[in-house]
Amino acid sequence: MCPLVLYKIWKTYVVPRYLYGLEVQICTKADIYELEKLQRKLFRQFLSLPERTASSALYILLGAEPVETVLDRNMLSLFLTISRLDNAIEKKILKWELEIGKDFTESFINRIDKILNKYSLPNPKEILENPPSKYKWKNMLKKAINTYWSNIWKEECLIKTTIKYLTIQENPTENPHNIWKAARNNQNDIRKAEFKSRLITGTYMLQTTKAKFSKNQISGICELCTKAEEDIKHFLLDCESLESVRLKQMNKLLSLTELKGGGDKAIYKEEDVLQIIMDCSKLSTTSLSHLKAIDLIEIEKQSQTFCHQMHKERTKIQTR
Ligand SMILES: [Zn+2]
Repeated sequence: MCPLVLYKIWKTYVVPRYLYGLEVQICTKADIYELEKLQRKLFRQFLSLPERTASSALYILLGAEPVETVLDRNMLSLFLTISRLDNAIEKKILKWELEIGKDFTESFINRIDKILNKYSLPNPKEILENPPSKYKWKNMLKKAINTYWSNIWKEECLIKTTIKYLTIQENPTENPHNIWKAARNNQNDIRKAEFKSRLITGTYMLQTTKAKFSKNQISGICELCTKAEEDIKHFLLDCESLESVRLKQMNKLLSLTELKGGGDKAIYKEEDVLQIIMDCSKLSTTSLSHLKAIDLIEIEKQSQTFCHQMHKERTKIQTR
């Protein structure tokens, strides 16, 4: 089944039961870590990715929310409901908690204060005095959560070389990655998108990956042409043993990136071509800034066929 369907089932039917009532309890960091660990394990299974996959990539690919944020959201929702209850005893208690201040670090209001601060939202006092409308709050929270995770995940994509080609989508905690948007719910599409997910997360076993894991006991030299180290660039752009498949697929792919209506034939730098194949939704690929979301899905589909054909050819040569 398509991972996006599996995630939707998980989010709609399981998460509410899984995290039921936790907003009124005090969850330690270790508790949240355990809950998150289980969710990540499932996400890896949904996406057929191995244990070593960078965790941020799982959320980015599925367009998913970390458990931490679901809990924060539930707590904030309870707080907002109380802050809208004028003259109710619950609101008076919160105002009293606010007055006695920082002495009780585990008080509900102090925990709310930390959460609001984390997402750069207004402080509890401001909200209690002037609660925003449901509509305004919903938009404010959505924006804050997405900005918060975008920043964290962007940082991880910069640090971890395995996911350097992976692009963070707009509103990444609710918007699946282009790779999975391009896949329909059939076996063929799912297989190709799964393969692409392994490439983009650096978990496809190229010769240099094997060398790295064996602490260089295994050579990183390409077994197909034996002329250079087999990294992602060599596999997709350079290896002469794969040239015939590459040429055919590359022409199809690059023709999709040209301006519609007889634009100039684009000339790309090697690094740009690699980025287009790996993840054309990267906004900084300015050469593609003229394209719309639907065009990016078409390019992604073609890129998945390209990568899958290259993989099939590689396997064919290796087993000869
Ligand atoms: Zn080669």
